[in-house]
Amino acid sequence: MKTKDFKYIYGPVPSWRLGSSLGVDPISQTGKVCTFDCLYCQLGKTKIFTGERKIYVPVTKIIEELDLLPQVQIDYITFSGRGEPTLAGNLGRMIKAIKKIRKEKIAVLTNSSLLNRRDVQEDLLPADFVVAKLDADSQKVFDIVDKPMEAIKFDAILKE
Ligand code: SF4
Repeated sequence: MKTKDFKYIYGPVPSWRLGSSLGVDPISQTGKVCTFDCLYCQLGKTKIFTGERKIYVPVTKIIEELDLLPQVQIDYITFSGRGEPTLAGNLGRMIKAIKKIRKEKIAVLTNSSLLNRRDVQEDLLPADFVVAKLDADSQKVFDIVDKPMEAIKFDAILKE
């Protein structure tokens, strides 16, 4: 697959957890959009630091690109990309729309920061696999490693 022709999807890339994983970026901004600014982030500094969900990419754009995919082995269609995918306000609609046209399972990689929100939980329900990462065991470690937005609290993520 020639990734240069695609703006919102990439790969497929081999993943030890997901096999052949085709990436979908529901944020697709030039700079990273995230609730965190992790020390180890491969995407550099967070450009848009936000917890506000909104529509970054119309569902139709993702579907148009998936329709152009050549025949290629895919095990999972995986939401990830340049930021936190649950910040996409239309994530649930994207997952449902993809399920109508593709047979592969759908995964979402999330930093867990918004998992205590009912709207995010509902959006994730149609996914087959949610890889929810939380790489701290206290607010102190959380602040040092993940550098979250002020409004995101470690205990609150674990509550729901
Ligand atoms: S949560 Fe992911 S995208 Fe966001 S800063 Fe951390 S590693 Fe980067």
